[in-house]
Amino acid sequence: MAFLAWPLERNHIRRNITNNAFGMVRNGGSKAHQGWDLYAPPGTPCYAIAEGEVVDAYYNGAYGNNVVLRFAHGGQVLYAMYCHLSVMAVRQGLVKRGDLLGLTGNTGNAASMRGEDQHLHFEIRTTRHSGTGLDGRMNPAKLYGIAPIGWTYYESHQQKKQVLVGLGLKVKGINVREVVQ
Ligand SMILES: [Zn+2]
Repeated sequence: MAFLAWPLERNHIRRNITNNAFGMVRNGGSKAHQGWDLYAPPGTPCYAIAEGEVVDAYYNGAYGNNVVLRFAHGGQVLYAMYCHLSVMAVRQGLVKRGDLLGLTGNTGNAASMRGEDQHLHFEIRTTRHSGTGLDGRMNPAKLYGIAPIGWTYYESHQQKKQVLVGLGLKVKGINVREVVQ
């Protein structure tokens, strides 16, 4: 089974609350959040979670600058969407897992975000152009096994030692976790 990288070196849900995770988690369960908000100060590098093809990179309204990576996983074609970017490093073409796709920012409806609210909005889609609500989206936790709530770092593959000594997950292509089926 292929490995998936995490989109950032350090991954945790913004403010560690469930309404910044995926699902009908807002307005008392009546409003969708279509992906994960991963806390990230502007300029944080975003990495390709899998080998695939960048199929879209443009200013997309509320999502701001977004880069869309098409990849295959578990027999499915999926789309990873990186939003509110300040820099789109790849506009189109093939990429390898761990390649830099862009830098986080506050574009789109994240323009007023400051401090601990600054984030990467990260979606997994089952279709390139999905609709409103949760239509065409998948919970990223389905791929990673868990939403990183309460985690400062997420690690595996013998990376724990590096985390404990404060190095984080900095090795390109090693910031990965095997998906348990
Ligand atoms: Zn969001």
